[in-house]
Amino acid sequence: MQRYFGRICEKQVILENDDVFHLTKVMRARVGEKIEIVDNGEVYQAEVKSLKPLHIALGKHINEKSELPNHVILVASLVKGDHMDLILQKATELGASEIVLLSTERTVVKIKKDDKDVKFARFNKILKEAAEQCKRKKIPYCYRLINISQLKDIKADVKLIAYEDEKGSSASFNKAVQNIKENQTIAIVIGPEGGFTQDEVELAFSLGYKVVGLGRRILRAETAAFYALSVISNFLERK
Ligand code: SAM
Repeated sequence: MQRYFGRICEKQVILENDDVFHLTKVMRARVGEKIEIVDNGEVYQAEVKSLKPLHIALGKHINEKSELPNHVILVASLVKGDHMDLILQKATELGASEIVLLSTERTVVKIKKDDKDVKFARFNKILKEAAEQCKRKKIPYCYRLINISQLKDIKADVKLIAYEDEKGSSASFNKAVQNIKENQTIAIVIGPEGGFTQDEVELAFSLGYKVVGLGRRILRAETAAFYALSVISNFLERK
């Protein structure tokens, strides 16, 4: 059943224009079509009662647990083109709560100040569509582009930076994940195609980030992000 993030006002369902278009023109919904509406982290059944004008009647509340028990922040270095889209999409499917974009010494992609709004609007559209597809109750947010020294502003109880020169074993990463406590926020930092400089890793370490390895091979930036989030979400949802 198609899911939309909308607003509920006095039992009336209000959808954004893009979603109205998707429901009526792409899905070609008919009267009687059942859909799911998420508002403020709560999921409801809903039914299309009329199309002109569009009237969607609210149904029963659905109890579901599709969010990770902990707040997980992926700090992802800017990578080229559709690899960035892939990181946003898969991070959503793997339960990340927030994606913070990171510009480092070796990031090839730069986001100019004037392009920021358009870029972030596109990134958040990807997050919304991925959250609808994987039936999340919350859309991860992405509104920050930081540099390495601003890692100090990331509020997290468990701070990890994946460093390719730590490759050889994932023991340090596994140990850090297995020590995650209830209600702790986790931040995992992933470098760009060109990797981190030694100075960047040392700075992150001085800011309280634990340097971890993600196994014996050098992973692409997007693979490293998926691997790290998969291990974290697998552990958090193990019960
Ligand atoms: N240019 C680097 C090199 O060839 O050594 C590779 C960088 S890798 C493509 C991108 C990012 O993924 C790294 O900066 C790191 O954050 C993460 N990564 C990839 N493989 C890793 C590993 N085995 N251990 C820890 N981090 C890894």
